[in-house]
Amino acid sequence: MGANCYLCERSYDTINGQSPGDAVGACKLCGVFACLAHGMRNANDPAYVCGCCLPNLLTVAALWHLRSGGVSPQGSPGDRQPSPESPSGFAQWAPRISKLDDVITDIADEQWAEIHQYIEYLLKLLVDRDGPTALRAFAGPDAVVARNLMAAAIAIATKWNLPSHEMHPMLQQAMQAAVVNRYG
Ligand SMILES: [Zn+2]
Ligand SMILES: [Zn+2]
Repeated sequence: MGANCYLCERSYDTINGQSPGDAVGACKLCGVFACLAHGMRNANDPAYVCGCCLPNLLTVAALWHLRSGGVSPQGSPGDRQPSPESPSGFAQWAPRISKLDDVITDIADEQWAEIHQYIEYLLKLLVDRDGPTALRAFAGPDAVVARNLMAAAIAIATKWNLPSHEMHPMLQQAMQAAVVNRYG
């Protein structure tokens, strides 16, 4: 009998069309065990990442680019804080992510079509200088990379129904702002 998947135990949505089962690896960012349906191995940067950390990683990367100048992003998602000395934590990884396929290597595949559509919608929202206050930092012409990463994080967290307590605080804010704008 294999290890239990953290995300299966909590009945979180699967992320990639695979079947849930025994955990196949520990998330490099938060350490939870995740099955094939709740985790993803990155071919370029070999690491297993769980479905909770993936949108958070995109968020931290978006914040890093927003503040680039090289200041490390602050804040971690809830109590899933990676140890600060970990060479592969969120903040260390973020500078190497400038587009979605740096994290999801098969992002061009058909299964992601819905995500791309939602990203397109969110980019229009994020570029709006009169848009939600929480998202206004992403509207500027020099925030293109950050805007794309933030839109991807929101789209993925929405599609996967990620519970808000698993989200980075910036992602929580952005999700609320995007939802209010969408349905308000
Ligand atoms: Zn699972
Ligand atoms: Zn994780």
